[in-house]
Amino acid sequence: MTRITNIACGALAAFTMTTSSAASKTDGFNYVADRFADIEVLRYKVPDFENLTLKQKQLIYHLTEAAIAGRDILWDQNGRYNLEIRRMLENVYKNYKGDRKSADFKAFEKYLKQVWFANGIHHHYSMDKFKPEFSQKFLTDAVKALPAKERPSDLDMLMKVIFDPAFMAKRVNQAEGQDLIRTSANNFYENVSQAEVEAYYNALKDTTDLTPISYGLNSRVVKENGKVKEQVYKIGGLYSPAIERIVSELKKAAEFAENDKQKSVIDALVRYYETGDLKTFDEYSILWVDDTDSRVDFINGFIESYGDPLGMTGSWESIVNFKNNEASHRTETISREAQWFEDRSPVDPRFRKPQVKGVTAKVITAAILAGDAYPATPIGINLPNANWIRATHGSKSVTLENITQAYDEASHGNGFNEEFVIDKETSDLMDKYLFITDNLHTDLHECLGHGSGRLLPGVDPDALKAHGSTLEETRADLFALYYLADPKLIELGLLDNPDAYKAEYYKYILNGLMTQLMRIEPGKDVEEAHMRNRKLISEWAYEHGKKDNVIEYVTRDGKTFIKINDYGKLRELFGRLLGEIQRIKSEGDYEAGRDLVEKYAVKVDPKIHREVLDRYAKLNIAPYKGFVNPVYTLIKDNKGNVTDVTVSYTEDYIPQMLRYSRDYSPLTR
Ligand code: ZN
Repeated sequence: MTRITNIACGALAAFTMTTSSAASKTDGFNYVADRFADIEVLRYKVPDFENLTLKQKQLIYHLTEAAIAGRDILWDQNGRYNLEIRRMLENVYKNYKGDRKSADFKAFEKYLKQVWFANGIHHHYSMDKFKPEFSQKFLTDAVKALPAKERPSDLDMLMKVIFDPAFMAKRVNQAEGQDLIRTSANNFYENVSQAEVEAYYNALKDTTDLTPISYGLNSRVVKENGKVKEQVYKIGGLYSPAIERIVSELKKAAEFAENDKQKSVIDALVRYYETGDLKTFDEYSILWVDDTDSRVDFINGFIESYGDPLGMTGSWESIVNFKNNEASHRTETISREAQWFEDRSPVDPRFRKPQVKGVTAKVITAAILAGDAYPATPIGINLPNANWIRATHGSKSVTLENITQAYDEASHGNGFNEEFVIDKETSDLMDKYLFITDNLHTDLHECLGHGSGRLLPGVDPDALKAHGSTLEETRADLFALYYLADPKLIELGLLDNPDAYKAEYYKYILNGLMTQLMRIEPGKDVEEAHMRNRKLISEWAYEHGKKDNVIEYVTRDGKTFIKINDYGKLRELFGRLLGEIQRIKSEGDYEAGRDLVEKYAVKVDPKIHREVLDRYAKLNIAPYKGFVNPVYTLIKDNKGNVTDVTVSYTEDYIPQMLRYSRDYSPLTR
């Protein structure tokens, strides 16, 4: 909900996911760090870091140390045997004296890489336990060959956890009708049933409280001597050694705060970690959301609750970042001109907003990814999560542009364009302009599209029911597509070529008509709202442009390609459909909305689907991606004074994982 991943949501996100992969070095930077199983590990750059002040660099340095220091917490939250298993696997990896080229060892190495990537033994996305492709005997022998002090005390149990597919099979189980706590392998609960946990919290909650704390956000619930209780994550509580180290780095960071406001944010977070008091966490969140002046920003704590089947306990994560002033200028410019766009929107003037307020969102550069944001990371974040704080204090919405940039760069040369794009001219245009037009599309969609238009008086905002979110995404996308081709963007200095928009138009139609189908299993319908919306727009434009041959299917060597013959007319079609979707929304015309979705957005042509799946499979593009972090180093003069902080990008995936385990592992010793 508050987290845009490169899998679930976002116009840019979806395409990056379908395209990025393989080794490519268009700007000389080595973006690809590793490739195994269904995973590709990338590197990201931290542009402009060297131009920060020394004080800002030192602030970032200590915040990155505070970020990495929490790594073990997440591992333990993800499963109670994860840390012991990691330690055992790493000891075998470092000490194995047998044939490191054998099939067993190779399979073992792949498994270890998967476990590192997932921060535990369950896949980070599917939540299913990894299946080792080496024998239990191989691992048992390898462990027994270790020096005594490197051997785990409970080998039999760890073997059961790794090799018994039925035991702790899924990290988060969402299957309706089952006890979601007893059937989930995460470590947020111990020895309690779902009913007991729900009864516990129901007794605590005051439903008349207008500013409720986020119950259960920072605790593990256990039953001891028949009594249900919370073990709070705090100094002196659960995970104390890791939290102490986080706090010690936060205190150092506070000395380099850019201003008093930022210092009070850090101080409040320290108080929260010291007390575990969720009221203090709310105070911190309010201070954090109000701090919009500082260049450097960060999150550090128990934030998102996707890892808990009850959606209460936060998985530990941290992201340290600083504002990308140049790119934020883009979102600020668009927001400032919000009324201009609204007044000219191709919809019935009765449905326009007389007074529109653009949402401001900033573009940031990530300096470190940690905990639940590492190695797999979101590309956009909107926090805080507490509804009452959002309503009264607002929220901060950010795009991690150096991350999207890395996805984009790594996608060049993966064969996707060669396979699916009709000609070199279009492909060149996409290479040159897809990154910026994709970002602009997201900005227009988020900052203006969702906020534009109004309902007629008396219309129920939920009138479109089950089709509401598909049609809402359709509306925001059309608003963005329509204005992407507007000369106003050139006038505002956001684009420098009147043809640039064609890159996004081509990608959008190709994706909507064909390539997004690679995420649908054969025989299945399109379900997810964003995918439906893209299909709706593309199929509708194809059909309504038929008489003018606006979009054409071309067959070449038995392969299907999309050809766009008239980009100007395509823009007109986007405008026309926007007018109709806005009418449906403004009038609450459920039948018309349902008919559009059912006719254009759901059913898949099995022939084109099969073709897309076959062609895509040959490209061998990894479905999931994540990142290794850069390494920051304090530079000191001969008196020990810090004179600079440097950033390097040379560390590989395995060395980084082993280094983190060696130097930042307060919970495993
Ligand atoms: Zn949206």
